[in-house]
Formats: sequence, structure tokens, C-alpha cells
Amino acid sequence: MRLFSRGQKVVYNDRPRRSSLWRRLMWAGVFPVALTIALYLFSARDPHSAEFYSRSIFPIFTWPIRQFTGLFSFSLTQVLLFIAAPLLLAALIWFVWRLIVRPGRWRAVLTAVVNLVIIAAWAALLFMLTHGINYHRHTLSAIMNLHTQPYGTEELVATADWLVGELNEVAALVPRDEEGIFRPSDSCEATLDRAGAIFVNLAENYPELGISAVGRPKSVWLSHYWSYTGITGMYFPYLVEPNLNIDAPESGLLFSTLHELAHTAGYAREDEANFLAFLAGHCSDDNEYKYSAYTQMFSLVGSQLNARDTAAYKEVAGKLHFGVWVDYRNQNIYWDQFKGKIQEISNKVNDTYLKVQKQEKGVQSYGEAVDLLIAWHLSEAATSGSGK
Ligand SMILES: [Zn+2]
Repeated sequence: MRLFSRGQKVVYNDRPRRSSLWRRLMWAGVFPVALTIALYLFSARDPHSAEFYSRSIFPIFTWPIRQFTGLFSFSLTQVLLFIAAPLLLAALIWFVWRLIVRPGRWRAVLTAVVNLVIIAAWAALLFMLTHGINYHRHTLSAIMNLHTQPYGTEELVATADWLVGELNEVAALVPRDEEGIFRPSDSCEATLDRAGAIFVNLAENYPELGISAVGRPKSVWLSHYWSYTGITGMYFPYLVEPNLNIDAPESGLLFSTLHELAHTAGYAREDEANFLAFLAGHCSDDNEYKYSAYTQMFSLVGSQLNARDTAAYKEVAGKLHFGVWVDYRNQNIYWDQFKGKIQEISNKVNDTYLKVQKQEKGVQSYGEAVDLLIAWHLSEAATSGSGK
């Protein structure tokens, strides 16, 4: 506490200041940390409670945030970043200056550390409430009653074959430019805005998913530079905001949009978000989203089949519509120009983040959507075979 000034010299009374810092740390820091740990342990041990939270409390808790961010067509995450980065830099400069020219250095350091701990503690709690608990809900296979198990090459080939048939049908219908590359007919923002209705349709087709609301997909202004990280979409839980890299080829972008919407609907795991993105596209009569969903899912299925049985892969892939190859080639050309150290670091960060969230396979977990696809395809085939 500052008591009085004697000329230029400021005199401090240490004891009350230290105790008030300590009190602040106890009240504003320990409470959110304790609650975050309790929520983590409770949800990790009891998926029923996590499921209840994801279905009933998460949509209500995030409602006001979604309503606010939904007012804007552009990403508020990026605006926050643009404001936060210079502010942090200014705070750092002010802090260093204060350390050099003002007395009470250690008090300044202590105050800064306490403030940082408090901010981090509240950020951890908010993350847990807007995303973290959703990692611990029931698995999607349990929710949809799908029997995922180690599958044989035969099932993989049958699923890949079926997918190629569906993909080829829609590949012939989507709009393309003069080079044969898929280009949506609407503007980018109008196209992104159609994604919400596609998820509403998914929720109606699969009520067991318990999806009641999704966020509004947002375009990111500096998308081209964002591509250096190799990222097409990112869910920012603090704003319940799906951020999309609108510079990326649309054949992948539309699938990523559905993937990020799955996160805003309470499905945190990457394989499940990928499968729900596919399923949303499959159920939809929006050919552009359907095409992107099938294209991206086939790239996952195809790479697994190629790893298992190259001859079988070549046979199945040989049936692909020419336009799909044009789009795969376009995606490769696009992403190749951004390959480098930043992409490697970004991939490593994502891998570590997923492992911290108990997604043991890290970035490999995206490909596990194929297990869900095969289980779903077998169950659909059994249902239609039994005349249901
Ligand atoms: Zn994701």
C-alpha cells in the first residue's frame, strides 16, 4: 500500500501490501484452480455427469457468448489477438521500465506473478466450462450405438467403395472453375452461413446426438498468413467461435467448417468432430458441403487402405471422379507452398495439446474417424439389409 510521498521518494509499508497480495491470490486464484481441478477429476471419472453437462448445461452456459459472437460475420478471436498482442507488449515494456527506474522491484515482480496466476486460473476454469469437460463425455460410438472394433481390410474396402460411389455422384454436380477446381456458387461468407442449417438437419436426423445449438462460422482476415501453420479451422472456446481459414481450398474448407461446428455443439474429440462433419454433409442436400465432406473423408479412408493394401487402394481410387483428383492436386499445391518450420511447430503444439486432453494418439486421432465411419456404414448396411 502506498502511504505518502516525501519529495520524489515514495515510502511503502510492506506488510499490508504483502498480506493484501496474498489475500488476492487466495480468493481470486485458488478458487478457480480448485474448481478447475475438481471439474477435471469429476468429469474424467464420471462420463455420465460429463454427458449431462455437455447436453444440458454447456448449451445454456455458452448461449450468451454464442449470441454475442454470432452478431459478427468476422472472427472476434482475431480481433482479440490484434488487441491483446500490442497490449501484452506494452505491459511488458512498462513492467521492465518499472523494474529499472522505480524502487520496490521484488514487490513489482510478485504483483505481476500473482496477477498472471489469477488470469491463468480463470482462463483454465473458463476453458474447462467451454470445452474441457466435453472431452470426457460418452464416446460418440456409445451415443450412436456403433460397434467400433478392429476392422478387417474387407470392411475397409467395402466402406471405401461405397464412399467413392457417393462421392462420384456429387462430384459431377458441384460448380467448378475453368481449371476444374471446385468453387462454391455463393460468396465465402454466404457459404459459411449455410453450415448452421446443415447441423440443424443433422440434429433432426440423429436426435440421440443431443445437438441443440452451434456457433456461427467466422472468416479470418489474415487467412493466407495463417496457412503457414497448416491450419484450416480452429475452435476458440472462450468465444465459442469456429474460426475458418478462408484462403484454403474450398474442397477442404467446407468440411473443416462442419468439423469446427461439431466442437461448438459440444463434441470435443477430433475423430468424432471429423465423423460428425462427414455425417452432417452426408445427411444434407447441400451438394457443396456434401462434396467436401466426402472428399475429405475419402482422403482419410484412402490413406488407411493404401497403408494396408496398396493394390486394393489403387483399384478403389481408380474409380474416383476426375474432378476429385483435380481438387486433391489443388489442395496439395496450395499447402506445399506453406510447408516449413512454423507448420512443424504448430503440428507439435496441437499434438501436445491433444495428448494433455487425454487424446492419446494426438494428431493421429483425426484419422480415427475412419473407425466410426466403418462401424456406422456396417450398421446402416445391416439396417437396410434387415428391411428397417
Ligand atoms: Zn478440431
